[in-house]
Amino acid sequence: MKFLELSQYFQMLESTTSRLEMSSILMQMFSKATNEDIDKMVYLTLGEILPPFKGIEMGVSEKLMIEALSKACGVRASQVESLYKSKGDMGETAFELVNWEGKGLSVKQVYDELLDIATTRGTKDKVLRIMSLLKGLSNLEAKYVARIIMGRLRLGVGDATIIEALTSLAGSKDYKGDIERAYNLCSDLGLVAKVLVQKGIEGVRNFKVQVGYPIRMALAERVASAEEIIKRMGRCAVEAKYDGFRLQVHKKGKDIEIYSRNLERMTEMFPDLKQAIWENIKQDEVIIEGEAITYNEETGEFYPFQITIQRKRKYGVYEYAKEYPLKLFVFDLLYIEGEDYTQKPFIERRKKLEEILPENSVLLKSEMFITDSAKEIEKFFEDVVARGLEGIIAKRLDAPYTAGSRNFNWIKLKRSYRGSLADTIDVVIVGYFYGKGARAKLGIGALLTAVYDPKTDTFKTISKVGSGFTEDEWIRLKNMLDQIKLPHRHARVDSLLDADVWVEPKYVITLTADEITRSPLHTAGRTMEEPGFALRFPRAVGFIRTDKKPEDANTVEEIINMYRMQKKISVD
Ligand code: ATP
Repeated sequence: MKFLELSQYFQMLESTTSRLEMSSILMQMFSKATNEDIDKMVYLTLGEILPPFKGIEMGVSEKLMIEALSKACGVRASQVESLYKSKGDMGETAFELVNWEGKGLSVKQVYDELLDIATTRGTKDKVLRIMSLLKGLSNLEAKYVARIIMGRLRLGVGDATIIEALTSLAGSKDYKGDIERAYNLCSDLGLVAKVLVQKGIEGVRNFKVQVGYPIRMALAERVASAEEIIKRMGRCAVEAKYDGFRLQVHKKGKDIEIYSRNLERMTEMFPDLKQAIWENIKQDEVIIEGEAITYNEETGEFYPFQITIQRKRKYGVYEYAKEYPLKLFVFDLLYIEGEDYTQKPFIERRKKLEEILPENSVLLKSEMFITDSAKEIEKFFEDVVARGLEGIIAKRLDAPYTAGSRNFNWIKLKRSYRGSLADTIDVVIVGYFYGKGARAKLGIGALLTAVYDPKTDTFKTISKVGSGFTEDEWIRLKNMLDQIKLPHRHARVDSLLDADVWVEPKYVITLTADEITRSPLHTAGRTMEEPGFALRFPRAVGFIRTDKKPEDANTVEEIINMYRMQKKISVD
């Protein structure tokens, strides 16, 4: 197919307001595709060059595109820029500026050029390539090429619409399930379309899991209580639910790739995980899934998701990985040594997973136990929440891994976010811990903080705090605390934890936290029968509250009331 014809289809797709019509335009378009074109047509229609898991990005900024248009059209860059500003769209800008006939390039030729632009490194070379491609395009073609380069094709065509069109192309509605299944196993609609056109529906039915092609992830349904889990599943596996970054790891010999929940290639963001996988997993071909979460070496607690997500960065990944190490809680095994495990029951997958994962400090098995008691589930739920985790996930023992689908094979029960801590809490610093890892050079890594108990006139610990201060603030803080250092715990401080350095309860700081939880580690609110209270994901806001005396900190009573105000368990 000529790229001009594809552009005309794009124009039709862009102008229709009916989804049905969209599907029929796509079907017509695909029916004209050759064996060679079909995958490229699918990618381009989705505004991509390759599926996101290949990790190929155009890497062209507005500035570069303006420069390329300016050079191709012989118009000053400032003029292109003001036209772009008034149009607000690079496609319309190109459409207006290109005033020559195209060379009648094929879809394949344009696609190959686009792929070249994406894989070319230097900006100068990129501009030259875009410029020469534009020279061969008519204004309508240039419009869509410019949009694709900017990653803003906006035809409104999604995966489901393509699947529908491919189903029509296959000739029967009955084939939809086969096409969906193939897509769930490889996450590459271009590839599915190609196999369909080249080998027919039989080829699609023969699709197999392959290392290097992420499997679309299985998702969990939600329920409101542990009883409901047992009612639906009976005897089931119950796991801790970690609030991190879901990752699917593919290993083939020395090649290791890591994909996100949205099936983007994230390998470069996790050099530490890659290393751990290489060192610990001896099998040649493996696909596993788990939740990566950053933890605080000082406090042994997990950091909030916001810290983990910061791995999604281009620069300073190694430094960040050192400061914020990760653990991967592995919870599933999908493929091993040529054998597809997705069809096997959960319990078998888990057993194999336990066999292949040796003890190590980075790759851990998700915490799991098997039960048919709602009471036991509730107990575990309270326990994990108290430890700062998000809740639990229950899994049906006999269920396969249902790629790309959300159903009751997995059920999540989470602590409510509605009940989360809306207010800040003022606490007193009663001691500190030396820094480890990146903080070692500072000599301070976390504070031990307490709230005030007027009844006993003591300070009862509620939290270790390791985040919220800049490096400069940590240095200042250490200087100030060293001046009020004590050889032992202050008499008015009630603590089960042993600080590295005890200080006089003098300075008040303000904390935010996700919520108040119960914890056996702290003394605030602790009784003979009940554990104390703790803060989940505490972070300091601001510096020392010079306007507050230690007794002006929040009281134990206030903490108990705030805890009561949090709804106990509800569904998110
Ligand atoms: P979803 O992924 O279901 O669309 P979401 O992105 O909002 O929902 P949650 O509602 O928090 O996430 O719950 C599901 C997620 O929990 C999973 O996608 C996975 O990332 C995470 N998770 C944490 N621990 C586990 C575990 N042990 N087993 C499976 N998933 C887990």
